[in-house]
Amino acid sequence: MEIDFLLIGQGLAGTALGYRLKQAGKKIRIIDLPQENKSSRVAAGLYNPVTGRKMVKTWNADILFPEIEPFYKELEEVTGQKFLLEQAIYRPFVTIEEQNEWMGNSSDPSFAQYLEKIFTHSQSEFIKDPFGGVLLRNSGWLNINVMLDAMGAYFGEDLIADRFAEEELIWNNDAWAYREFQFKSIVYCNGLGAMQSRFFGGLPFAPVKGEILEVKQEFCPDYILNRGVFRVHLGKQIHRVGSTYTKHDLDQGPTESAKKEILERLIELVKSPVKELISHKTGIRPATRDRKPFLGKHPKEQSVYIFDGFGAKGVSLIPHYSKMMKNHLLDQNPINKEVDIERYFNYI
Ligand SMILES: Cc1cc2nc3c(=O)[nH]c(=O)nc-3n(C[C@H](O)[C@H](O)[C@H](O)COP(=O)(O)OP(=O)(O)OC[C@H]3O[C@@H](n4cnc5c(N)ncnc54)[C@H](O)[C@@H]3O)c2cc1C
Repeated sequence: MEIDFLLIGQGLAGTALGYRLKQAGKKIRIIDLPQENKSSRVAAGLYNPVTGRKMVKTWNADILFPEIEPFYKELEEVTGQKFLLEQAIYRPFVTIEEQNEWMGNSSDPSFAQYLEKIFTHSQSEFIKDPFGGVLLRNSGWLNINVMLDAMGAYFGEDLIADRFAEEELIWNNDAWAYREFQFKSIVYCNGLGAMQSRFFGGLPFAPVKGEILEVKQEFCPDYILNRGVFRVHLGKQIHRVGSTYTKHDLDQGPTESAKKEILERLIELVKSPVKELISHKTGIRPATRDRKPFLGKHPKEQSVYIFDGFGAKGVSLIPHYSKMMKNHLLDQNPINKEVDIERYFNYI
């Protein structure tokens, strides 16, 4: 069977790229192993334009953020399902200095599109925000599991639930062959699975483990809370809270220490008792050494590509970079140097 692109992985990356290629009229197949530890299936799904302790605009925010909501809304329309939740993020100030700094930011035009309002007083008896806080917009969260399932149904027979066995991949003069398939190009969208690949195993991935909880708490405002931890309301007083970042104990699963850390940070943010711990999950983010994604073509092999390395920010990076990747695959448009794997060709 002759197809244009074989994609490995149906996490966020393979889903977005597969959609764009299919929309462009290309014949695709996606092979995905459902049981694998998928970063996408555990993720909170947040997109947040202002992050970090110093509260700076996230990398390339002005390029990435205008594309996030239109892209996921398009997928909602195609699938007839709802999975994008546009929601403000409330971030309490911890000091009066921080409040002053944000009063300054409020007149900076480069922050205008992300800033809903600054509060100089506490917004609720249930939040620890004695100095007020900032309400950010152009933010929200993606219900990734619903989105991946809906898109799985959209791909239909183009999606194959199986483990891709790279050792069975053969180059036959002018095309690749894998079992019954003949295809021109292969794209690795398989997160940390690419570390096992003979083509891309040398790239400097830097996996980061994350643990995340679901808890029951009565206080349910209509915004996401973020300070030390984030807290997203999933409905019925259940909130997703997290997450931790560690580069060790990658294969240990849920740990007591991470649970304790998240709950302690939650208490520092929300003054409402945790009534129940619903779940405790872990995932490993497909991060990279320089924290930039891996896009591009293998330097020596025919038509072997990678679209990977989205680390902790897949939801906000993937709409923009899946378009860049599609334009490269179909029209040989250049890939931006800072994300092109060319920067690591000496590792491959
Ligand atoms: C705790 C936690 C919280 C997070 N929170 C956020 C957040 O709030 N916002 C955000 O933007 N990001 C968040 N992330 C990061 C986010 O999960 C990633 O950026 C993104 O999901 C990566 O998607 P991916 O498709 O590249 O990789 P993955 O989700 O890992 O998908 C790879 C797919 O390839 C498949 N695969 C691998 N090898 C094979 C094989 N040999 N054969 C077949 N299939 C294979 C896997 O089964 C999987 O389905 C979080 C991650 C974690 C762990």
